[in-house]
Amino acid sequence: MTIAQPDRIASAFALQKAGVERRRLEFGLKERLAALASLRATVQKRQDEIVAALAADFGKPETEVILTEILPVLQEIRHTSAHLKGWMKSRSVSPTLATLGTASRIRREPRGVCLIISPWNYPFNLALGPLVSCLAAGNSAILKPSEMTPATSTLIASIVAEAFPPELATVVEGAKEASTALLALPFDHIFFTGSPAVGRIVMEAAAKHLSSVTLELGGKSPTIVGPGADLKRAAEWVTFGKFANAGQTCIAPDHLFVHESVRDGFLAALRARIAKAYGDDPLASPHLAGIVNDHHAGRLGRLLDDATANGARIIDGGHRNGTRMAPTLMEAVTPDMEIDREEIFGPVLPVIAYSDIDDVIARINGRPKPLALYVFDRDRAFAERIIAATSSGGVGVNLTVMHYTHPGLPFGGVNNSGIGAAHGEHGFLTFSHERAIMENRFSSLPMLFPPYTAGVKRLAGMAKKLLG
Ligand code: NAD
Repeated sequence: MTIAQPDRIASAFALQKAGVERRRLEFGLKERLAALASLRATVQKRQDEIVAALAADFGKPETEVILTEILPVLQEIRHTSAHLKGWMKSRSVSPTLATLGTASRIRREPRGVCLIISPWNYPFNLALGPLVSCLAAGNSAILKPSEMTPATSTLIASIVAEAFPPELATVVEGAKEASTALLALPFDHIFFTGSPAVGRIVMEAAAKHLSSVTLELGGKSPTIVGPGADLKRAAEWVTFGKFANAGQTCIAPDHLFVHESVRDGFLAALRARIAKAYGDDPLASPHLAGIVNDHHAGRLGRLLDDATANGARIIDGGHRNGTRMAPTLMEAVTPDMEIDREEIFGPVLPVIAYSDIDDVIARINGRPKPLALYVFDRDRAFAERIIAATSSGGVGVNLTVMHYTHPGLPFGGVNNSGIGAAHGEHGFLTFSHERAIMENRFSSLPMLFPPYTAGVKRLAGMAKKLLG
């Protein structure tokens, strides 16, 4: 007998909720490390299935699966396991003059039962990466992977079921309906990765229960190639950051500003690097991932058609065949075009020549804050000035995407590109409640309690002089 989805969701939540108190007492360092080890062993054992699932879902090349799906999860497990003992320790806080005689500490506690909703673009990494932080912080989790990558989602469900008992972690598969049903429940924390549009829906649903949220969203990440850039190096990093996963990366360069003095040289270097990566016929290249489905291939086709119909020029690529799309460079993209408003999320890069960097900065600041911002230039002061004048989730200087991979850096957006952070200790803290605890040892404060006699008033006056 199959259990109806609403019943399955309700019982999965109830099971985890019932175990919260026991987990608080019994899910300590040893047990958490064992949970992470179990996930590592299962992922390692089933690597071939992971590669096959991602190939089935959108033709992702095996090397890209290893580099961008499996390794980040294993690295998160390794880094977290190595540091968890230290992260779990309470932080003691020195007393102030007013709190002399007390001892204070911050206890890093589990939030409770967490919901993780993940997208399709790195479907394995973005479901299991947050799960590592979630379990390390002592929580349980219900995961809702994306319906757009069904083979990977089913595999994630099977891996989680193999690695954990359902009171610790379980997967609910399904689309919007499953998400909506889950979001109606009073989770202690919701970790959502996806689009800003759905992020708003998640935050609204969370508000009903005042569930805390982490929103890892997207947006249009700008890239600037300055007059002093090493053009060959910039072309190399832009090719990798933009066309890996066929541009379906939340921190891919969305559009690129190039200083007019280096425009020709940069475009030549970029075209050469793209040709080196994907050959004469990129649609047949085994190194280029496909577009996830017909819906998104159609969306990208419409973006291209709308842009070219309104005067944009394709200067490289532009070929499409079903869900395959060649790396494409465009010029003469203007703000009235859809491609200039919507997150592109595919292998199309508008290139805009500029003469004054202040115009570029004003344009970036006139739009929602991006998830990433990239600057290429040998002049560090040039990059620092752009960093200081703008806001974004993260920044890459003379590289793209790599800031995602450092477990010591917080990964997240700001406002439209997200709220909160993932990875390493930042991810651990995202899934923790920092509980303030103050213990009275020999506080003299009761001397100031009512009745406010003349003696108390004198003491209060002295305290005011000391503290004020
Ligand atoms: P999406 O927002 O459409 O879907 C994400 C998840 O939300 C899926 O599991 C989906 O089933 C669920 N969902 C969809 N509609 C819903 C609704 N109305 N109510 C509740 N849940 C709903 O995003 P996507 O298309 O899967 O992924 C692409 C987006 O994710 C891009 O904007 C990209 O930039 C962003 N992204 C961000 C990060 C990051 O770490 N910041 C990483 C990857 C992708």
